[in-house]
Amino acid sequence: MSTCVTITNIRAILTQPAGSRLIVVRIDTSEPGLYGLGCATFTQRPLPVKVAVEEYLKPLLVGREVDRIEDLWQLSWVNSYWRNGPVLNNAISGVDMALWDIKGKRAGMPVYDLLGGRCREAVALYRHADGSCPEEVEENVRRWMAEGYHYIRVQMGGYGGRAGSMHTPEGAQPGAYFDDLAYARSVPRLLEHIRGTIGFEVELLHDVHERLRPIDALQLAKAVEPYGLFFLEDALAPEDVEYFETIRSQCATPLAMGELFNNPREWMPLITGRLIDFVRMHISQMGGLTPARKVAACAELHNVRTAWHGPGDVSPVGHVCNLHLDLASPNFGIQEWAGLSDAEREVFPGCPEVRGGFAYVSDRPGFGIDLDEAAAARCPCKSFVDTWTQSRLPDGTLVRP
Ligand code: MG
Repeated sequence: MSTCVTITNIRAILTQPAGSRLIVVRIDTSEPGLYGLGCATFTQRPLPVKVAVEEYLKPLLVGREVDRIEDLWQLSWVNSYWRNGPVLNNAISGVDMALWDIKGKRAGMPVYDLLGGRCREAVALYRHADGSCPEEVEENVRRWMAEGYHYIRVQMGGYGGRAGSMHTPEGAQPGAYFDDLAYARSVPRLLEHIRGTIGFEVELLHDVHERLRPIDALQLAKAVEPYGLFFLEDALAPEDVEYFETIRSQCATPLAMGELFNNPREWMPLITGRLIDFVRMHISQMGGLTPARKVAACAELHNVRTAWHGPGDVSPVGHVCNLHLDLASPNFGIQEWAGLSDAEREVFPGCPEVRGGFAYVSDRPGFGIDLDEAAAARCPCKSFVDTWTQSRLPDGTLVRP
């Protein structure tokens, strides 16, 4: 093995094979044919990430040794002086994962082996079951159960449970309306229905999506306690996390949090204070595999489990990174899984296989996934303004989505 392989080029490739705009970083090296891929997907703001990668990280990193992942992560993190923002963290993540992919290829090992080796044979996944009424949610839960899934997140009417009719003022602005209190009252009813009809043979999860005020979130966490949730997700917004202590002191509903976090100061107090049960950061948003593996180890020492964010706006490269870390973490809890379309599988050869509610990754060196650039180019990113983030309460007040 050559001792000094260097970075020769770094590109950010944008593609949209399904609903979300994806950004993947490719690093080429001085060794012919050796390259790596990383996820840098910030689907709402892809172009600033591309600029951060190609105009700032590329000139900083070309010519440097590919093996020095930790040093290059630290260098990239402080180079802008201001740090921990979503654009720059995603850019660094793309480079960071690509370097882990390269290191695995150089070692002839899958990334999970670089991280200490498998703790399990496959990764248990949870799927999302929605519906307009409890009976429809039940039907969708049963559909996932028939495919072998044992963990299912149940929602009614999407996040915040949009009500059919809402009393709004004249001239109300357009937006994604929801009624927070009607939503909060609907969740225990939904869980009562599912437990009453299906029972306890499946693990149920629910995502509040930071839609409630802290006192209402506290009431909900207490009200759902008898239904034995696997976890209650984002019961609070990142701006309200001090209220976790209050929720914790009044009920034993397991709590999961983290997909909006950027900064170590956001997750550290929740882990060390034993205020949550699952960390579920978006790995590209926090800066890549290098910080995520440290968080996984820190959480393990505090008996907190992992449930990394895995929605549609993570590229298949990012999903595979989640899965390699899941395989190697003794404190793995569960993995969110949004499913991959045929178009995504065509653009990204080597996607994981899913059978019986478990994901299986390839044991090829690195992450074992590739990017077909010609196929990616056939799926260019569309330009549009996000509207789902324009959430409003019945009186028209704009709130967090
Ligand atoms: Mg969520």
